[in-house]
Amino acid sequence: MKKIMITGATGNLGQLALQFLLQKAPAASLSAIARDPSKLDSYKKQGVHVIRADYEDKESLLKAFQSVDLLYFISGSDVERRYQQHQHIVDAARQAGIKQVVYTSFQRKSESTDSPIAPVAGTHLQTEKWLKESGLSYTILKHALYSEVIPMFARPDVIEKGVIYLPAGGGKVSFASRSDMAQAAAHILTTSGHENKTYEFSGPVSYSFGDIAKILGDLSGKRIIYVSPSAEEFRNTLSGAGVPAAVIEVAVIFGEGIKQGEFDFPDPTLENMLGRKVQPVENFLKTVYA
Ligand code: NAP
Repeated sequence: MKKIMITGATGNLGQLALQFLLQKAPAASLSAIARDPSKLDSYKKQGVHVIRADYEDKESLLKAFQSVDLLYFISGSDVERRYQQHQHIVDAARQAGIKQVVYTSFQRKSESTDSPIAPVAGTHLQTEKWLKESGLSYTILKHALYSEVIPMFARPDVIEKGVIYLPAGGGKVSFASRSDMAQAAAHILTTSGHENKTYEFSGPVSYSFGDIAKILGDLSGKRIIYVSPSAEEFRNTLSGAGVPAAVIEVAVIFGEGIKQGEFDFPDPTLENMLGRKVQPVENFLKTVYA
């Protein structure tokens, strides 16, 4: 029985992955790390081994990774800190003798440091490099933007306001849902033949925010328009409305990246791996905005 360990198990993606893994593997073969293990009490009751560890503390990772065969390494959420944190995880995995690391990376068209998405892509590129150089078997999952980020960019009150305001131009995104990616990861973690492979995890169709406005208009029966200002106008408008600068910058980074086609990557790999259609963006929007 292979021992599978999950990082980021208390997060959105990690919870879904744990649920899919429990359908495919005995609970006793699964373990998860958490900064606060009590968040995983319900999984512990089902037999999952839960260990306290922090990406900041390499020794805690090294201890937790003992006797683990396969690591599902979910990328860290602290963009400022994750260079160091990811280095700790890769080093600890190598030292603990883990056989294979399945890493949730980032889909992109360009790896240029001039790209608008360079501030978030840099750690993923570096982590892929560390994994490839580490001598560990690796599987890189290049995640598309989650469908779940659409409400963050389009705003939860878009139906009421009637407008999507984002500097993303006519750029398109091949969104896929977290749940589909988590289920495909569970498949990879419980089947063989994925060593030293890289998979594109995206939807088969790309959508612009104009397309999303049209879908939301059709769903709600209201007129929803899409306005794409320049990055400068966007910053001025949102800071005038009291939106924190850090939040504005994230929207600008992703908006500009989308405009440049960084996330326009339709691909059948995810559907082929799941053996079914992925959740269409239209269905996702219906569940969120119904
Ligand atoms: P999430 O819900 O924010 O979960 C992040 C997870 O990382 C949580 O379990 C959190 O644990 C854990 N974590 C953070 N810092 C840690 C530390 N120092 N030590 C140990 N654990 C730590 O994120 P998600 O939605 O599941 O997404 C998973 C990852 O995908 C994110 O972390 C991010 O890298 C990336 N992402 C991708 C997209 C996309 O559209 N493709 C969008 C957002 C994020 P705690 O419970 O202790 O906080």
